[in-house]
Amino acid sequence: MAEKSDIINFEKEISGGVDMKEYRPQEIEKKWQEVWEEKKVFYTPQRSEKPKYYALVMFPYPSGTLHVGHVKNYVIGDIVARYKRMRGYNVLHPFGYDAFGLPAENAAIEKGIHPEEWTRKNINTIRGQVKKLGISYDWSREIATCDEEYYKWTQWIFLQLYKNGLAYKKKAAVNWCPKCKTVLANEQVKDGKCERCGTSVTIRHLEQWFFKITDYAERLLNDLDKLTGWPEHVKTMQRNWIGKSTGAEIDFPVEGSDTKIRVFTTRPDTLWGVTFMALAPESPLVEELVLEEKKEDLQEFLERVKQQDRFRRTSVEAEKEGFFLGRYAINPVTGERIPIYVANYILMEYGTGAIMGVPAHDQRDFSFAKKYGIPIKVVIKPADRDLDPEKMEEAYEGEGIMVNSGPFDGTPSSEGIEKVINWLEEKGIGKRSVQYKLRDWLISRQRYWGAPIPIIYCEKCGVVPVPEEDLPVRLPKDVEFLPTGQSPLSFHEGFKRTKCPICGGEAQRETDTMDTFVDSSWYFLRYVNPHLEDKPFEPDDVNYWLPVDQYIGGVEHAVLHLLYSRFVTKVLHDLGYLNFDEPFTNLFTQGMIYKDGAKMSKSKGNVVSPDEMIEKYGADTLRMYILFMAPPEKDAEWSDAGIEGVHRFVKRLWNTFYTVLPFVKEENTENLVLKNSTEKELRRKLHSIIKKITEDIEGGFKFNTAISGLMELVNHLSQYLNSVPQEEWNRKLLREIVEKLTLALSPFAPHLAEEFWHDLGNENLVVQQSWPSYDPKALQVEEVEIAIQINGKVRDKVVVPVDISEEDLKKIVLERERVKEYVDGKPIKKFLYVRGRIVNIVV
Ligand SMILES: [Zn+2]
Ligand SMILES: [Zn+2]
Repeated sequence: MAEKSDIINFEKEISGGVDMKEYRPQEIEKKWQEVWEEKKVFYTPQRSEKPKYYALVMFPYPSGTLHVGHVKNYVIGDIVARYKRMRGYNVLHPFGYDAFGLPAENAAIEKGIHPEEWTRKNINTIRGQVKKLGISYDWSREIATCDEEYYKWTQWIFLQLYKNGLAYKKKAAVNWCPKCKTVLANEQVKDGKCERCGTSVTIRHLEQWFFKITDYAERLLNDLDKLTGWPEHVKTMQRNWIGKSTGAEIDFPVEGSDTKIRVFTTRPDTLWGVTFMALAPESPLVEELVLEEKKEDLQEFLERVKQQDRFRRTSVEAEKEGFFLGRYAINPVTGERIPIYVANYILMEYGTGAIMGVPAHDQRDFSFAKKYGIPIKVVIKPADRDLDPEKMEEAYEGEGIMVNSGPFDGTPSSEGIEKVINWLEEKGIGKRSVQYKLRDWLISRQRYWGAPIPIIYCEKCGVVPVPEEDLPVRLPKDVEFLPTGQSPLSFHEGFKRTKCPICGGEAQRETDTMDTFVDSSWYFLRYVNPHLEDKPFEPDDVNYWLPVDQYIGGVEHAVLHLLYSRFVTKVLHDLGYLNFDEPFTNLFTQGMIYKDGAKMSKSKGNVVSPDEMIEKYGADTLRMYILFMAPPEKDAEWSDAGIEGVHRFVKRLWNTFYTVLPFVKEENTENLVLKNSTEKELRRKLHSIIKKITEDIEGGFKFNTAISGLMELVNHLSQYLNSVPQEEWNRKLLREIVEKLTLALSPFAPHLAEEFWHDLGNENLVVQQSWPSYDPKALQVEEVEIAIQINGKVRDKVVVPVDISEEDLKKIVLERERVKEYVDGKPIKKFLYVRGRIVNIVV
């Protein structure tokens, strides 16, 4: 293979001393971006003869400028959109901004400006950054969730849920971030800390609005099986989040009282081993059941426990603390008296807020029992040994044989669960029950920068939804929004005071705003009719475009955004607005870009700005490097040398193209004749590389190897130019190569491809061309039959590829049975290969 420097010198030479057109990416990129915009080539018609394809990237929070990690998402989306357009699809590829929410509000407070001003400024910056990358968005469909014409319909969606019993208000213990001064959904709490700011979350009891996502738990779970185009790990995360468990609900009577304590257990097979009960500190039963003389001590205990981090206090390792209420329950299957405790490791919001304690077979119960001297009773034993409760150092949580369990002695525990549930139902002691970890979606926020909840409170009429014709409930601009813990809108008299839509009397508006995840739970529908005034979307149009064919985004949204979007889609489906009930057919989650081994962040100072890279290398180089650095689903480390390398390739591609151009400009590919095996082989490589690139894109986004294919093709082309005298160049073949190369390049480096296409003498644009085809006939390796002569007589024949090397041929020939026979182990004196014809062996 020729050295790189040779090729460059050679290219200079053959351009005949004429100065070759210089590569100035900043110029050509700006030029072609303007042409695309002017000709509106990416504006998507609402209907078309072509099949539809909806390629969607997760829209950004406009909370600053984009770094190259964000940009990766949009580059991947753009390859898909451009490729599908070339494949003959009517492609919808829109962009927008998830513009409400805490980050904007917090940043605005920090900078002393209005959240709207700050948000709009960031939107302008991001739009500029994305446009410089040459992403093929239909900009006429741009949306921002903080626009009145958008949030009007977010409020409309709230009303649909409200009218159908899926939005309700209740007093609830909620996660409270003392720093952000707002409530957080369970999903926004990570390890007991606020997802945004890392502050430990506390509990408050507040009247809050919820969406009844739990009504959809079973469908959200089951329909995951339909999503065959989703990564398995995302579906697993959703399954775990929904957290379905099957077991039994059992009532334990309290001694000397009519009260019963209901528990949910997935291990009814351990019921005979219950030796205590424990209630959550938040359970109303605690105050009801405690003995009078213990009340004071109880208060002290509760005060202390409620201060504890509720997430950590429930972990297996956490110190177990309990308080004996002085009362006993009766184990309904054994009739035994068992003490009732309140314990720090029980949470009110899981199950029923009460548990049956089985120390022998649950580790947390075991630790608790050890600490408080509660008996340990073995009811499951491993098949191969006995358990001595006196000597146990930890609970036995595995499967085994039921013992000390009345009628079930000897039953394998795996069968025991079902049998015991049936028995409990027969005896009327308990019943089969299914529980989910999923809680209803808390959507109230006591913050300013969000869509106001469209509800009015009237003393006479109660809770009154805002009539749909009165939407939007406008978010006023002149609001003091510093966080106080109360909704900023509650201090705005003009907003708060209103008339009741039913009786016309004085009334007050709801002053909470909606969780920003409500805004993003339906935005993919709005892109279809982004500026429609009297409806959120046209059902016919939405049913044509949706579901989204390919959704692309970060795995951090595996639970929150994707689950909420699925829920809202199902609700709108059930209300008759949509004819599909899953929004995203295929999901791709891209990997992150690290710098210096860490996630990019301003505070770490390791942010790589796309603007700087575009300034230095051009957008085409940046796009190619982002895709070339690793398979797109993998995390990858940014390397300055890496982008340099890709840039060198781009320049080499440019030089090679303009070296060939004068020889092919007036040519076409009609009646292409291949004169020799070199030409045949070059054409075979062209077609096999086009085939490979096509398969790389279709078969799971292997963009990095697709780009390697382009590089390989440029290498083969250079070698040909380098080794064949100019006057022998097959111009028709060269024309075919640069045409197909330009087409295959165009999704990856669209500006460069547009420039090439134009300079090849085309009047139209490369973005409007079809994806290059490959000719299966051209893929065949040419073969020849070679005669094998041994000591002057033809003894054998062999069929080999026409370009086989003498070395490879020799191996094949000497391994043949007939040849071995005639050579008969004697030393070979001579092995002569007349290319394409005959082999002469002398022994
Ligand atoms: Zn916070
Ligand atoms: Zn009223």
